[in-house]
Order: sequence, then structure tokens, then C-alpha cells
Amino acid sequence: MSTILVFCPARDGLLRPVCKEIVSAAKRISGDLNARVTAVTFGEVSDAATLGAFGASTVVQLTSPALGSYSTEGYAQAASEFIQSESPLAVFFAATARGKDLAPRVAARVGRPLFSDCTELKVEGGQLHAQRPMYAGKVILWAKINGGFGVLTLRPKAFLPAEVGGSAAVESRAVNVDAAKVRAQVVEEKATSGGELDVSEADIVVSGGRGLKAAEHFKLIEDLAHTLGGAVGASRAVVDAGWRSHHEQVGQTGKVVSPTLYIAIAISGAVQHLAGMTTSRVIVAINKDADAPIFKVATYGIVGDAFEIVPKLTEELRKVVGH
Ligand code: FAD
Repeated sequence: MSTILVFCPARDGLLRPVCKEIVSAAKRISGDLNARVTAVTFGEVSDAATLGAFGASTVVQLTSPALGSYSTEGYAQAASEFIQSESPLAVFFAATARGKDLAPRVAARVGRPLFSDCTELKVEGGQLHAQRPMYAGKVILWAKINGGFGVLTLRPKAFLPAEVGGSAAVESRAVNVDAAKVRAQVVEEKATSGGELDVSEADIVVSGGRGLKAAEHFKLIEDLAHTLGGAVGASRAVVDAGWRSHHEQVGQTGKVVSPTLYIAIAISGAVQHLAGMTTSRVIVAINKDADAPIFKVATYGIVGDAFEIVPKLTEELRKVVGH
């Protein structure tokens, strides 16, 4: 039986939350493709076997002394060698910063097409189809993958993780990585967000815009986000003003997010902002301008002054969630 290969990112020897999502996405279509799901990690990952519950029948841990720290070229060599030895039906990466760095290079090395930032998958006539937003979310494209496998990056939070109750065999596979061909290597990583939840991984994102008027007013956004257990996001206007750091920026030149709930506060809804959040499941907008474009994509809209509404909303929600 042929296989869908799912490259699963890890940090500090543990799987990232997105792994459950992309393995579940593969499992969901695997029946129609008559395929099994093989999860793949770079190096050993202590919770690798947990992917069995989400539909992986095997987890292959690629090992090489050159895979100790991240390098685009080293990881691409390892992934390509493994893909070529497997003849898969499809290859998935997460559309995280690292997955987006790696997948195009891997696709080029194995000579197969790349479909980036996919938000939905289906099988028709035995062939895999992938959906992706284009032109800052104005167009939704469905692509059919012809004549062999495609390399796909799947947008985090676009695919729901689903436990199917299986178990996975975990094995290690030594791969040849030519260290002489690795021209740039990550030597150190420093967390910039002080342990805060990343916007692209959070289930709930509360974002603030220029209408908040000053950096210190972001306390309103932080209080609401913390009450809901969510992450703080920002528009580019706010980041450009130096009120928030770029890792929180949502949009075309920031991060693309698909949380269960996105709350946009005092954000106008410029097309470049919408490009980063319209695939959120529920969108709540709070803006004092009833004609603000953000209301066109909002599931629920509140027209009014954020300085009056947000503290009341946070207070009421605290009563419900208890923190
Ligand atoms: P504004 O457009 O100034 O909107 C502020 C809103 O706050 C208004 O709608 C106003 O009605 C409301 N408001 C004011 N006071 C209150 C109040 N008291 N209560 C409630 N509401 C209030 N932008 C991004 O966000 N992300 C990107 O990645 C991005 N990439 C870009 C890339 C390019 C190439 C370009 C050209 C632009 C990009 N932009 C991006 C910028 C984008 O075009 C907008 O300028 C930006 O999103 C506006 O931010 P904003 O909504 O916070 O500010």
C-alpha cells in the first residue's frame, strides 16, 4: 500500500501542535487514496508514538549527525532522500516558517510540483485536490495534482485534529546528509515572545489596531486575550508604529492565522490584514465605524468605542471562564 508522507516539525525533542492537524488531514483523505499515513521527523522525538492516535501507522525518525540543528540544505537533503526511497502518493509539510522554507526546496529536489498554504483537501476520481487562497484571500483556488505526487504545505489551524484511536510503529532511518553542502546552519535560537502563545498556533487570537491610539492601550487587548487563553495579534500599522513586535503581526506581510475565534479590535480591515485572517472560523469585529471593511468578513460585529466595549466584554467573560 502506498503512503502519504507527513513531515512533522518538532522543537526541543517534542512535536509541535500542528503535527496532529496535518497527520489528521492526511488520515482523512487516506481511505479515498487507498494509502497509509507515515509521519516523518528530523531526529528523534520523544512523543513520536502519539501520532498513532491521529492516524499515522508509522513514524519514521530521520537521523544523521548533520540534523542536529536546523539547516535548509541539510534538512532538504534528508527529506528528499527519504521521499525518493518511498514513492509516496503525497508529501505534506506544515506551512510554518520552517515548513515554508523547506518545502519548495524539497519539491525542486524531487522534481515535483509545490502547493503552498493549502486550507482544504479532497479526493475526486482517485486524485488529490488541494484548496488554497490566492491574491490576499480574494480568490480561492482548487488545484488537481496530476501525474504523480505533489508537495503540499498545510496551513496551521486550517485542519482539525481528530483522534482515530490507532497506534504507530516508531522507527529510525539513517539518511546521508553531505555536511559540505550545508552552507548556512542555525547556531542559536532565542525566544522573543517571552513564552507567550504564538498567534499562528493559538485557538483564539485577539488583535488590536491603530484605533487603540497608543501602545499602552494594548493592555485592553492583553487582558481580553489572557481571559480567553488566547494570543495577542496586531495590525501592521501598530507594528510599524513600534507599539507591538513583528512576530504578532497578522496579514500579508505578517503571519497567516486560522484560529477558531479571531477578535479584531479597532482594525479597519485593509485587504492586507484580511489576507492573514479570513479563514478563521468565527470572526468578531469591534470598530466605531459601521462602514469599516472588517465588518464584511465578520461573523459578529459590534459598532462602538473599543475603550468602552472591551473592558466590559473582558469583565463579563471573566465571570464565565473564571480567570
Ligand atoms: P487603520 O486602517 O488606521 O484603522 C483603524 C481602525 O480603528 C479604523 O477602522 C477606525 O474606525 C477604528 N477605530 C478608531 N478608534 C476606535 C475606537 N475608539 N474604537 C473602535 N474602533 C476604533 N496590514 C496588516 O495588518 N498586516 C499586514 O501584513 C500588512 N501588510 C501590508 C503589505 C503591504 C505591501 C502594504 C502596502 C500594506 C500592508 N498592511 C498590512 C497595511 C494595511 O494596508 C493597513 O494600512 C493596516 O492594516 C491598517 O491597520 P489598522 O487597521 O490598525 O489601522
